Amino acid sequence: MNLYNTLTKKIEKFIPNNGNEVKLYTCGPTVYHYAHIGNLRTYISEDILEKSLKYLGYNVKRVMNITDVGHLSSDADTGEDKMLKGAKREKKTVLEIAEYYTNCFKEDCNKLNIKWPETVIPATSQIDEYIKFIEKLIEKGYAYLSEGNVYFDTSRLNDYYKLTNHNEEELISGVRDTVEEDTNKKNKTDFVLWFTKSKFEDQELKWDSPWGLGYPGWHIECSCISLKYLGNKLDIHCGGVDNIFPHHTNEIAQTESYLGDKWCNYWFHTEHLNDATGKMSKSKGEFLTVSLLESKGYNPLAYRLFCLQSHYRKQLVFTYESLDIAGNAYNKLISRINSLKQDKSMIDKEVYEKYNNNFKEALSDDLNTSNALTVLYDVLKADTNNSTKLALISSFDKVLSLNLIKKEEEIDDDLLKYITDSIEKRKNAKINKDYELADSIRKELLDKGIILKDTREGTTFEVIK
Ligand code: AMP
Ligand code: ZN
Repeated sequence: MNLYNTLTKKIEKFIPNNGNEVKLYTCGPTVYHYAHIGNLRTYISEDILEKSLKYLGYNVKRVMNITDVGHLSSDADTGEDKMLKGAKREKKTVLEIAEYYTNCFKEDCNKLNIKWPETVIPATSQIDEYIKFIEKLIEKGYAYLSEGNVYFDTSRLNDYYKLTNHNEEELISGVRDTVEEDTNKKNKTDFVLWFTKSKFEDQELKWDSPWGLGYPGWHIECSCISLKYLGNKLDIHCGGVDNIFPHHTNEIAQTESYLGDKWCNYWFHTEHLNDATGKMSKSKGEFLTVSLLESKGYNPLAYRLFCLQSHYRKQLVFTYESLDIAGNAYNKLISRINSLKQDKSMIDKEVYEKYNNNFKEALSDDLNTSNALTVLYDVLKADTNNSTKLALISSFDKVLSLNLIKKEEEIDDDLLKYITDSIEKRKNAKINKDYELADSIRKELLDKGIILKDTREGTTFEVIK
């Protein structure tokens, strides 16, 4: 598989540290508000990355954090904690806000067929890890205490900017919401590892530490959670492009100083989704969420298709017109697939291999999802039987996750129990020669869109839409 690596600024052959095992870390959401569809674009492409790696035969161990403390309004460690802002806005506690918006995020992921990572860790659950980590950085001379806060000393590193291409001034001013400067820092780029002092003394969650009652900085959670759950050698670290600086730059600085060794080989970043007015934001006017799209009648999977139609490293502009186009394409695609009646023919292995290889090639080409979709359309047009087409489409959907094939198991358990109980009752009615009851059961099911078919092997059913 070839992947673009932000660290080397090149497309590279992906080679995991340990054979077939891939250790993948994803920066999770800051749960102070709903995720906007821009955030979810990043999670869709990370989902495609995980599923593609699995499709290509790797075992993937994936960990994600949930930021429920320490992410201040400006990424440059100034302003109020975003969580506290959310709590004040809704007159709730920080923990209530965190729980509510974590669940909302989970629901959004579910609607977009984004797989929930096996290991998801809230930042507030790992305070002891951060304290141990910071103690070691101080011991090694990479961190210092100044006016109550512990800072990372970036002047200790020669290659602090290795993840970025930009110049220092540009980067620093890019993350500053206000011009206020933290005068306690030795260097402009130094960042907070542990706060005991900030202008916002009403910080709700605070913990005891060797430096006083306080709370962790934002970057530390990802380093410590990744080290704890994935070990000292990480294969891929993901996030949106805004995470490159300062968040991922600072993660590398502190983790490699802590380890005294290289930490992560591949850095995977998804470009932003913007709206027509520019940057997508949670505070600006109508705030684009999955629920908002649903309330306007859109299928969330049309949005997933919209994202897959373009490359994750290209900026994408969201408009309702383009979502309409993706929605129409989605409906057409599903109806074309639905019209393929399963035939009794054997799968044509040669054809299957050919298209499956094309699909794998598209994924291996730095996750070229638009080419992967082209292969799907090629299958629909291919000169082969329906069994082969349906087998390929079903296999591709393990990665695309567009619900391309309506599966039997999609009938919910209660409905299935009702149908099988009714079939049993009707069978007994017939044995007892109560044909009136048998007919009424058949009719009752038909009224609910369930057709019974009596075959020599017994009664089967079909659910019609
Ligand atoms: P946050 O909840 O702010 O911590 O962001 C969650 C994820 O969404 C991070 O990986 C961000 O880099 C990413 N992100 C933020 N804004 C956008 C956007 N407009 N388009 C795509 N990804 C974004
Ligand atoms: Zn992170």
